[in-house]
Amino acid sequence: MIDIKQQALRLDEHDALKAYRARFDLPEATIYLDGNSLGPLSIAALQALNTCARDQWGKDLIKSWNVHDWIGLPQRIGAALAPLLGAKQDQLIVCDSISVNLFKLLTRILSASERKRVLLQTDNFPTDNYVAQGLAEFARGDILLSYHQTSDIVEHLDSDVAAVVLSHVNYKTGERYDIKTICQQAHQTGAIVICDLAHSAGVLDVDLHAWQVDFAVGCGYKYLNGGPGAPGFIYAARPEALIGRSALQGWMGHQSPFAFDHSYSQASDMRSFLVGTPPVLSMAALLGALTDFQELTLPQLEQKALALGDLFLRSLSDLGLDEEIRLVTPTEHAQRGAQLSFEHDNAYALCQALIAEGVIGDFRAPNVLRFGFSPLFLSFADVVEAALKLHEIVRCKSYLDERFLRRNTVT
Ligand SMILES: *Cc1c(COP(=O)(O)O)cnc(C)c1O
Repeated sequence: MIDIKQQALRLDEHDALKAYRARFDLPEATIYLDGNSLGPLSIAALQALNTCARDQWGKDLIKSWNVHDWIGLPQRIGAALAPLLGAKQDQLIVCDSISVNLFKLLTRILSASERKRVLLQTDNFPTDNYVAQGLAEFARGDILLSYHQTSDIVEHLDSDVAAVVLSHVNYKTGERYDIKTICQQAHQTGAIVICDLAHSAGVLDVDLHAWQVDFAVGCGYKYLNGGPGAPGFIYAARPEALIGRSALQGWMGHQSPFAFDHSYSQASDMRSFLVGTPPVLSMAALLGALTDFQELTLPQLEQKALALGDLFLRSLSDLGLDEEIRLVTPTEHAQRGAQLSFEHDNAYALCQALIAEGVIGDFRAPNVLRFGFSPLFLSFADVVEAALKLHEIVRCKSYLDERFLRRNTVT
């Protein structure tokens, strides 16, 4: 272990991102391995929030919609996000949550197609599939869903498939999929791909243009550090030729919201994905958080995230922990995201015991422990320290203590 600690120190010395730690307000004595679920407080986000609340809302009141261009926030933030996704500025808009954005996309795609079927990943984050299920129930037989493992989803493509909805990285196992190949195959049969980037945006080397993804969604509160409930985003490959009608139409998606027309007439650009009034304070925080990424490249982020994960795995193996907690994430770099997941019969209690020791990871039912390796604020020494704490807890079986077994509402 002395070796690995020294190796961590050497890696930290040469870490080009080490100065970014100071841009976050993290509590003392905490190793935060949960930036994949809720990014920590970015000081730039806090400042932006403060400015928006005090100076804009406080002083300029309703004038701020124009004076501070609040009305343009969904597009301005989309433009700031574009370089992190291999997109052009006008291909993105920031609004609502992934769930709501998926609903809008599916209704648009299905309204423009004779095809009825949507292919879903069996083990996708449940909300993605719930949205599709609600829509299919509402459509009473006009929309058909089928669920498949990602490895064989393309085998189910045929001339009745309108869309494929899939995540780039599996939220539970951390496995990453080859979206480029799936898009190629989907396009051969005329299907449209919607890719969920919840666990990719802000940490992986995403290139939506090169992968030829048709539409993508993602959230602002995970690796992008936009704050709890931060709005998500929608990407469209062809913003100049958007298809279909959204079944969720609201005044902000109207081509002239302030004409207060009697009937809806959908805007012709990315604004057509908007529905209601934007959550300005959340948007301000997200825009602030994105300034932390301005000078970084995507390969830098991804490489450090993977290197942190590699060191964690090496530490566990040196400590002889790899039998006790079983890795479920593939080890190949190309096949994993910035998160590592492990199975353990007492995963919930283990997670709680770690939190009590200042190492924050999370738990996903029934028996998965997840650790996220955010490259902006974690050091290599943090990762080794987390492995040591985990080792201590497993060795003493302290996780079996009564207080670690009780379930909280949010797990
Ligand atoms: C976190 C996550 C979501 C969250 O959806 P919201 O509607 O934004 O709450 C959706 N999909 C995936 C894959 C996720 O990991």
